[in-house]
Amino acid sequence: MGDVREFTELLGDGIAEELRKSLHSVAESLPENYRFDTVDLSHESRKKGARQLYDQAVESMKRTGVGIKYPTATVEESPNAVLRKLLKFSVIHRPVTTIPGIKTNFTGKIDLDIVRVATGGTYDDPGQMIGDYAAASLRVVDRRTCEQAAHYAFSIALRDRKSLTSSSKYTIQRVTDGLFEDIVDDVAEEFQFSGQIEHRRELFDALLAKLAMDPEQFQVVLVLNEYGDFLSDLASGLVGSLGLGASVSLSFNEKGRAEVAMFDASHGTAPDIAGEDKANPTAILLAFSMLLKHIGNNRSADALRGALFECIDEGETTGDLGGSHGTESFTRILIERVGLRLAG
Ligand code: ATP
Repeated sequence: MGDVREFTELLGDGIAEELRKSLHSVAESLPENYRFDTVDLSHESRKKGARQLYDQAVESMKRTGVGIKYPTATVEESPNAVLRKLLKFSVIHRPVTTIPGIKTNFTGKIDLDIVRVATGGTYDDPGQMIGDYAAASLRVVDRRTCEQAAHYAFSIALRDRKSLTSSSKYTIQRVTDGLFEDIVDDVAEEFQFSGQIEHRRELFDALLAKLAMDPEQFQVVLVLNEYGDFLSDLASGLVGSLGLGASVSLSFNEKGRAEVAMFDASHGTAPDIAGEDKANPTAILLAFSMLLKHIGNNRSADALRGALFECIDEGETTGDLGGSHGTESFTRILIERVGLRLAG
């Protein structure tokens, strides 16, 4: 037996158990050896002692450095919000790609890695009234967080040989967005040794227009919190796959290196179909493919992603995408295709 790579998995609610089974079957079919340190964050389990469970989740995630989280129900509290706070996630990376076979109104081809500063901006302050006739809020751009996001974005641009566009309204928000762009320029200099990464600035409104007209010119896009929020949903809408989104939330150590990376699917717990073998595991498996890439298992990551896209393109899908498979039969077909890709 080769090395065993351990990572954390955080169990959830609704279709989470079916997604977990699918992911485990896929993981077992891969050539590497994986071990899961499991923490049960389902609502049933949280009712018996949420505090202790979150501590356990945080301890495990910090130890393994990498985790996959299944969808959880927000009842008393939002586990996502609690984990974000406890693990100090400051950056979100969300790939958005045109998926062959998914119907969309948009004919352009999108293949974006959106790297978003996930704290600050205006989102930490709901604002306050100034007298009766106006309201104002504070907008914060934090140097360290921007540095972390920029380091991460340049690292993936270097890893995947992609160009990087930073985008903001630096001509208007000259101090806040100006600081962000200055930090990105400084980090760009640190990466100059590679001589490979093309970096350019784009005003955010121009970016949106160009994305609609000629999306292929953008690859890694680095943005502040609000812009990232808008851009992620726009891009997901353009590729017609809000329900297939996956992302990673990251926190960093003193040296600016990713310390914890938590991967998850953007859809919810789908309680209406839980336990019926109808859940589509594509998004959580795309999250798993991102995880594999993050830990350097590129071959398995690419085989899994390629096989998922191939299944969708050929209509071998679960019912939500118009196919006739249940979760289990879809997973079986997928595993065959992953195997063929790894053997080829
Ligand atoms: P939550 O409260 O956890 O967000 P929700 O049902 O409000 O749950 P989603 O879970 O995103 O929101 O579900 C929206 C719709 O999409 C539901 O009809 C659900 O069945 C469907 N759906 C969501 N995820 C999947 C999936 N992975 N496979 C199949 N259908 C899904």
